[in-house]
Amino acid sequence: MDATDFARTFRLDNRVVAITGASRGIGRATALACAAAGADVAVLARDFAALQAVCHEIENTFPSRAVPVRLDISRSEDIGPAVDSVLQTLGRIDVLVNNAGMNIRQQSSETCSLDDWDTIFNTNARGTFAITQLAARDMATRQRGKIVNVGSVAALIGLPAVPAYSASKAAVQQLTRVLAVEWAARNIQVNAIAPGFVATEMTAGLWTDAALKARYDWVLSHTPQRRLGQPEEIAAAIVFLASAASNFITGHVLVADGGLVAGSEWRFDE
Ligand code: NAP
Repeated sequence: MDATDFARTFRLDNRVVAITGASRGIGRATALACAAAGADVAVLARDFAALQAVCHEIENTFPSRAVPVRLDISRSEDIGPAVDSVLQTLGRIDVLVNNAGMNIRQQSSETCSLDDWDTIFNTNARGTFAITQLAARDMATRQRGKIVNVGSVAALIGLPAVPAYSASKAAVQQLTRVLAVEWAARNIQVNAIAPGFVATEMTAGLWTDAALKARYDWVLSHTPQRRLGQPEEIAAAIVFLASAASNFITGHVLVADGGLVAGSEWRFDE
């Protein structure tokens, strides 16, 4: 393999990538990064106007096609039509990025309602599984595919007051391993990324809400890089897991967290 071929393995030319939760944050950055790497993209979420804006930005910047698809991933009845819409407009799904996710802020596990638990699981875990089943059927017909699930460091260390979110992300990360083993023979690689704290709408309360200042200080002091990540830094790792450069990697959870998990036993400064 010469250097040009080697560089090409990191690109996504002639690939169709479907990204859930692409109306903002990490999903939006991933859609832009995949297009920059040469892919056509389908962006899926509930906020259709925001999806259209992402598509305009992509098509004004790159030669890629970009298609907005309305999807509430917590609603079973939305998922089949959304996948069909991607297949009809872009022809296939080579890569599925399961990024759609949410949290409901809780004070403690004692007060987390079961309704909140169900809402979080329906989006983060059940929704991820449901759309993955359908996309994998399309991948299986071509005996090739990539699935990248977005987990969280919350599934790897015990963070207080996020019981449902953390458990839902642990479900996503374990599902990653199961599907990787089941679908290896179909040449479908299934991996996950576990971001640390990233500056998006999901985490904005950390620096805008005075009540969360102690938590924000904890995050910065326990992240060895002493900063939040940027959505583009997570997107770059997702592009790697979507590309042929990661063909021998499957069932892996790639941690992208500025060292938070690696340093979670490090307490010299306390
Ligand atoms: P964000 O800015 O709040 O974006 C969340 C995205 O998910 C939005 O595009 C939202 O779109 C979509 N979404 C939420 N519920 C949905 C539903 N029911 N159906 C379809 N789409 C839905 O958050 P983010 O930080 O970019 O998070 C992206 C992913 O990274 C999530 O899975 C999150 O758990 C994970 N993560 C984030 C961090 C962090 O520090 N930011 C850390 C670890 C993991 P609509 O509202 O338009 O539907």
